[in-house]
Amino acid sequence: MKLYIKIALSLFFIFALANTIRLNFFIQDLNKIQYEKSEKNLAIIIDDVKNLSDFIYENIISKSKVIDVFKDAHHADETQKSAIHKKLYELLKNDYDMYTRYGIQQLHFHLPNNDSFLRYHKPQKFGDNLSKFRESVKYVNKFKKPIIGFEEGKIFNGYRYVYPLFDNKNQHIGSVEISTSLLTFKQIFEKHSDLHLDFIIKNDIIEKKLFASEMSNYKEYQTLKNFKIQSTLLDANENNCPHPQEIYSFINDKELQEKIQTIQEHSFYKLINGTIYIAHFMPILNDFTHEKVGYAIALGELEFVSLIKRNAILSYMIVVVFSLLIGFALFIYAYRLKKELATKKLEDETTTDHLTRLKNRKYFYKKFREAINVYKRYKTPFSLILYDIDNFKKINDEHGHKVGDTVLIQMSQLVESIIRESDTLCRVGGEEFTIILPQNTLSDAKESAEKIRLSVEKNLHSILGRPITISMGVAEFEESDTEDTLFIRTDKNMYRAKNNGKNQVTAG
Ligand code: GH3
Ligand code: MG
Ligand code: MG
Repeated sequence: MKLYIKIALSLFFIFALANTIRLNFFIQDLNKIQYEKSEKNLAIIIDDVKNLSDFIYENIISKSKVIDVFKDAHHADETQKSAIHKKLYELLKNDYDMYTRYGIQQLHFHLPNNDSFLRYHKPQKFGDNLSKFRESVKYVNKFKKPIIGFEEGKIFNGYRYVYPLFDNKNQHIGSVEISTSLLTFKQIFEKHSDLHLDFIIKNDIIEKKLFASEMSNYKEYQTLKNFKIQSTLLDANENNCPHPQEIYSFINDKELQEKIQTIQEHSFYKLINGTIYIAHFMPILNDFTHEKVGYAIALGELEFVSLIKRNAILSYMIVVVFSLLIGFALFIYAYRLKKELATKKLEDETTTDHLTRLKNRKYFYKKFREAINVYKRYKTPFSLILYDIDNFKKINDEHGHKVGDTVLIQMSQLVESIIRESDTLCRVGGEEFTIILPQNTLSDAKESAEKIRLSVEKNLHSILGRPITISMGVAEFEESDTEDTLFIRTDKNMYRAKNNGKNQVTAG
């Protein structure tokens, strides 16, 4: 696979992973927002229901028609109590039936000593003392102030609205509870939200408070250990639960079950068949003992799913487009680099001598012209050396062409190692070479030539068993020079060296 495809693919996976993580955080945030919304909705309902209880208390219960019947109950003997109980029951029985249609469940009168006097929802159960079970009743009878809070009772659990009662002389005569069933809370909540609401209470709390005979009011809630739900709520679920299987498969999850054993805020979500399901476990606090007794559970699909989907589609599209763009940019870059390298290689081939790997005649003239241009602009001196191997034909004749080639190669390597980096050595003919020496005056160049000549004479004898020599011409570029005049002068100096006996340098 091409490198640029690999890079683009790796980037794609990195971007996609980062995007998935980002989306997860996004879902977590939305889930948190929805949790807070559920909590707020519940608080609004608790407050709203208070209006109904307040209305019944102020307009019916605390009116003289009821107070006159109840006012003597707290100091009456058992027979009188029984008569008052019956009278009070008859008085409000029809009203209570009507209140139940508005969701009222408990209408419960208590005496100042916290004795239960009359439960409209269970009229035959009375006379039991609630001091140990009902902090709310105790509080109201003690402080003679109304109160609202969640509390478990001997028959039901729920949000309690308890009010003090006074006779016409403003003497405290007991208290009354006017509470709404949890089913009503559930129905109101579900009417205003797409979520589903349940209340579950810890087993030990139920067992501690409940009349043994009322145990059937509670049932198991799915497979949740240590919690129970009121039967009325469960029955409502069976008739009206939009996504039962998914939700229950989710909350029956072992890990979730373990977590919720410690009662605190829990907010779960899970992707099942393309839908994000949520389960918000909102702790229920007994407002009087401050004990955490269970949960209000909001269940259902996460809101804003279309927002998440749109966001996910858009962001993954950006990831794909971005990766494609990077891949394309890398492709273009690789293509250009390849083209550049190919051009450079071709250029190298056309300017390199195949035998010695030195630069060739073509390259020499290019560099020579450049050196002249530099001189013309900056007047910096430069010199040229031209050298030719002495009696090379004889070498070829005596030792063969191959040995001749070896001489050419080894000599090239040797001279290349002696000259400076800025000097340019070229093979301009069969056994003729040039060196351009920038910033060299005639004497500098002559010195360099002498050094090269000596080194050749000294170092190359192993090929033939005797020294190989070269004759060298040196000239410096002058103001009046052209390309040709400098070359001819250098060539002439080289021939002068040949004519004067070879293996020498002639400069001028
Ligand atoms: P002088 O000292 O006057 O320069 O004598 P010379 O023999 O070196 O000069 P001449 O010009 O007579 O001979 C040059 C020889 O170089 C002729 C040719 O066969 C040989 N030659 C040119 N190119 C190559 C090459 O690539 N390889 C080999 N082996 N020989 C080459
Ligand atoms: Mg020669
Ligand atoms: Mg020659």
